[in-house]
Amino acid sequence: MNEVFVFIFGLILGSFLNVCIYRIPRNESLLYPSSHCPSCGAHIRWFDNIPILSYIILKGICRNCRARISIRYLIVEFFSAVALVLLYERFSFSFLFLKYAIFSYALFVIAFIDIEHLIVPDKIVLPLIALGILFSLPHHILGAVIGAVGGFVLFVLIAVMGKILFKKEALGGGDIKLIAACGAFLGMPGVIITIFLSALLGSIFGVYFIIFKKGKASSQVPYAPFISAAAFLYIFYGEMIVRWYFNA
Ligand SMILES: [Zn+2]
Repeated sequence: MNEVFVFIFGLILGSFLNVCIYRIPRNESLLYPSSHCPSCGAHIRWFDNIPILSYIILKGICRNCRARISIRYLIVEFFSAVALVLLYERFSFSFLFLKYAIFSYALFVIAFIDIEHLIVPDKIVLPLIALGILFSLPHHILGAVIGAVGGFVLFVLIAVMGKILFKKEALGGGDIKLIAACGAFLGMPGVIITIFLSALLGSIFGVYFIIFKKGKASSQVPYAPFISAAAFLYIFYGEMIVRWYFNA
């Protein structure tokens, strides 16, 4: 029964994540004004603002101007609800549940902003580094700081090597700050595995992109979604991967 409650709560939070994804890169306030259509500016009434249901009932178009509303709203609401249920199943209502829920939601927002704008906003990623260290208090602070610094240094090295080998910017400053945040939340083994997993996911997508979308290998692809997906996977499978690696 708790799962239903957690799922609905996740939908509502997902609705707020959508507001963050739209407004933070545009430097708009998160609280004011209330929800409005990005196309015509019409105020969205509460019954048209129910997660998932409203999107389906309105068939993804604005009631006022008939403009198409991005499928992203539906995807974010659904996945934030599913993510919260998965975290609840794993950690029940605990300190770790709170820590990883906040971390996962920040990753969501960062990933979708990067997909749309090709940026990782400092406004989210810098407080996230601080928050990761704060959540490690008092006993795991050393691990969090080492993870943040270690991730940062590793990614700077990879960025520099990438630039020398491929003569182009493969990783941006935002990606480097994001991996530092992952280090603060996941510690050193966590951040190393996150880097490997993100590269794996990125190359699978890269091959798919080149073969099926006829994209060029040089087109700019946001990297934060791969880091975010990797870090999210690590929350659930990290211990298993570490154990498997050290026993193998
Ligand atoms: Zn409209």
